[in-house]
Amino acid sequence: MTPRSPAPQEVEVRRAVDVGHSAAAVVIGAGIVGAACAYALAIRGLSVVLVERDAPARGTSGACEGNLVLWDRPTVPDLELTRWSHRRWEELSGELFDATGLDIEFDRKGSLMLAQDEATLAAAQARCAWLAEQGVPHEWLDGAALHEVEPDLAPSIEHGALFPMDSQIEPRIATAALVAGARARGTAVLLHEPVTSIELRDDGRRAVVTTAEHVVETPHLVVAAGVWTPRLLAGIVDLPVSARKGQIAVVTAPIHVRHKVMEAGYAGTVASSAGGLQIAAVVESTRSGSILLGSSRLLTDPDDRTVDVDVLGRIVARALEFFPGLASGRLFRSYAGLRPMSPDHAPLVGPLPGRPAVLLATGHEGGGVMMAAATGELIARRVTGEPIPVPDAALLPDRLVAA
Ligand SMILES: Cc1cc2nc3c(=O)[nH]c(=O)nc-3n(C[C@H](O)[C@H](O)[C@H](O)COP(=O)(O)OP(=O)(O)OC[C@H]3O[C@@H](n4cnc5c(N)ncnc54)[C@H](O)[C@@H]3O)c2cc1C
Repeated sequence: MTPRSPAPQEVEVRRAVDVGHSAAAVVIGAGIVGAACAYALAIRGLSVVLVERDAPARGTSGACEGNLVLWDRPTVPDLELTRWSHRRWEELSGELFDATGLDIEFDRKGSLMLAQDEATLAAAQARCAWLAEQGVPHEWLDGAALHEVEPDLAPSIEHGALFPMDSQIEPRIATAALVAGARARGTAVLLHEPVTSIELRDDGRRAVVTTAEHVVETPHLVVAAGVWTPRLLAGIVDLPVSARKGQIAVVTAPIHVRHKVMEAGYAGTVASSAGGLQIAAVVESTRSGSILLGSSRLLTDPDDRTVDVDVLGRIVARALEFFPGLASGRLFRSYAGLRPMSPDHAPLVGPLPGRPAVLLATGHEGGGVMMAAATGELIARRVTGEPIPVPDAALLPDRLVAA
């Protein structure tokens, strides 16, 4: 396969205009989750309308990183969904290339979970023991063995675990490829068309979606609008999904970062419900040669995509503890995205109780890229009645919202 990685604007999908008055499924949101849902429905031959108020990946899916990592998953249900998603992303990388010519940059480079002191060492070892019980392959590395696999790591870091199955993709290209793939299978893609109302009929078994230019009725409305989902469904359900801001520093530096490198404490920030600022080092190189530095978490409101300079400074300072060679690098870009977070940290995937026409696909927090591929499959299988290969009861919205 010949890699081709166009700029995101080059792969923007043209606006479709030929929409009937009804569709087997309507998907709201062309972030990576909605795009994956539209694609999974479309390849099953269903008539699909995908509605996006902006362009693909202009929400959180265009302001994130592309880690596909198993070791940080906070719960067994989302570990299972992520495992399925890893397999599906690998298949999709070839499938989407064949269908669209777009290379999603799938790379099984492996990840390193690092313990930088005695306290985090104990937590990291406990996590590895739990992951071993769940069948997640990894290898514990000390001292020279660790520095052999990641030579530019700070000499003071002496312990870590290598997860060879962990991978990465380019989320903006992956989103664009899924939208283009869905469109190639007949999906009507409505871009720059905000949904202005959703009306439920027939005791919640049908939904009517209205934009400025279209009205479409459907028995399956998939709402994948990220942190804006509660606002979209206000009046239908009070959805407990909040916005957790994360910032990224994009740098170039004369070092090599071979794996996805994360401090062990990252898993604690993912699982925490604290609203205040939390920082944990995540360092990832990309195919373009830049290095992405994260991570931060701060509860905010869904309109706040500002970059806070103080937070950026703390992210960089933390990353320097792991890669001192970054000190001679150059920061050339920064951005902030909003992770959609549910109160129990698992995504909401499935029908709203008492309103079966409305299927939620949101709440993936810091794992929406990883879990998107399987989320799309799960939604499509719910629609068609095909078997679902993972236990999904703990992902259903009825655990958090009443009928
Ligand atoms: C800094 C950062 C780093 C991250 N790194 C990773 C990572 O390495 N790996 C990983 O798995 N996850 C990561 N995440 C999390 C991941 O980015 C999100 O979970 C994921 O992007 C959510 O995708 P989504 O499709 O649900 O939402 P979004 O991408 O936000 O898409 C929602 C879409 O809905 C549209 N929309 C909203 N309202 C309307 C309306 N009224 N009408 C029509 N359309 C509407 C929006 O315009 C938007 O395009 C990271 C997040 C951040 C912030």
